[in-house]
Amino acid sequence: MQDELTAVFQSIIQSGRYILGPEVDAFESECAAYLGVRHAIGVSSGTDALLAALMALGVGAGDEVVCPAYTFFATAGAVHRIGARPVFADVLPGSFNLDPASLARALTARTRAVIAVHLFGGCAPMDELLAVAGGRGVPVIEDAAQAFGAERAGRRAGAIGLMGCFSFFPTKNLGGFGDGGLVTTDDGELAARVRALRAHGARRKHHHTRVGGNFRLDALQAALLRRKLPRLGALLDRRREHAAQYAALLGGAGLPLSLPDTGAAGHSVNQYVIRLDDASLRDPLRSSLAERGIGTEVYYPAPLHLQPCFASLGPPAGALPVAESAARETLALPIFPELTREEIARVVRAITAFLV
Ligand SMILES: *Cc1c(COP(=O)(O)O)cnc(C)c1O
Repeated sequence: MQDELTAVFQSIIQSGRYILGPEVDAFESECAAYLGVRHAIGVSSGTDALLAALMALGVGAGDEVVCPAYTFFATAGAVHRIGARPVFADVLPGSFNLDPASLARALTARTRAVIAVHLFGGCAPMDELLAVAGGRGVPVIEDAAQAFGAERAGRRAGAIGLMGCFSFFPTKNLGGFGDGGLVTTDDGELAARVRALRAHGARRKHHHTRVGGNFRLDALQAALLRRKLPRLGALLDRRREHAAQYAALLGGAGLPLSLPDTGAAGHSVNQYVIRLDDASLRDPLRSSLAERGIGTEVYYPAPLHLQPCFASLGPPAGALPVAESAARETLALPIFPELTREEIARVVRAITAFLV
C-alpha cells in the first residue's frame, strides 16, 4: 500500500488540518458501519479509549471495576487512573478470557463496571458475562484492543457490551502508524460524553461542563487507517490461515504443548499463543528461537494482581491460579498477515528441534 499511503500522507500535510476534522469524521462513520454500532469516536490510544469510557460512565473514587488478571496492563491501569479500584478475576484455561464464575465472585455492592477483554483476538464469553453483570445492573465495557473485526454470534467485538474500546497500535489487527484508538457505543448520551471528554470536557469550545483530557485522534492516523479498513477482512483471513497452518504442523507432532483454539468462529488471531506443558521450558525455548532469528513474546509474564503497583490490592499469589499459570506457560509465536508459509514451517521446525 506504499504508494496509496504516501499520497494520503502528502494530502494531509497539505490540508493544514492535523487533528480531528473530516478524515476523522469519515473514519468514525466507516468504523461504526463496519462494527455494527451507532457511534464510534476516534481517540488518541486504546488506553485513552478505556479512560474515556470509564469517565463517561461516571466511574471514580470509591468504585470498583472488575477486570481479568491476565491482560495487558492498560485494562487495569485505566481503572486506577480514574481513581477507582481494579478488582481482579481469573480467566478461563482455554481462551484466557474472563471467567464468568470468577466474575460472579468478584462482584460487590461497590462494583460500577466490568471490563471484558477479548484477549489475543478471540471474543470473551459475552452472553455469560452480560448475564452475570447485568443481573446486578453493572455495565460491561469490552476491551477490544486486540479484537478489531472479531465476531461472536453474529456481532462484532465492540458492539456487544455497553461500550467498546479499540487500539490502533501498529501490531493490532487494524494497525496505524503511531498511536490511536476508538470508543464505540449504541448509546447517544454516552457517545456525546466521550466526544466532549476527548476535548477536555467541552461540548462547546471553551465551555467545560466536566474535566476530560486531550484524547483526540490525529487526522493523519484516521486518513491512513481509512485506507486500510477496506482490506481488513483480507488481512484477518491471512491471520486465520497462518493459525491453521501452525495448528496443522504443531498439532499432529505429539509435542508437550497445547495450541490456542483460534479455529473458533470469529476469532481474529491477533496473537497465536501456545502453552508449554512444562513451564520451565518456556524461557529456554524462547532463547533457542531467538538464537535462530525467530522473535517471540511473552504476553504476559506476570498477572496484574502480582504487579508491584497493584500487589497491595490483592488477591494474594495463588488466588487466581489460571492467570498465574498462564503467565508462566504461554509463548506468543510470530503472527502477522505478511508471514509466509515457509517462515511458519521454519518456526515449527525450530520448536520441534528444541522440544524433541
Ligand atoms: C494494546 C492494548 C491496550 C492499549 O492500547 P494502546 O493503544 O497501546 O494504548 C489495552 N488493552 C489491551 C488488551 C491491549 O492489548
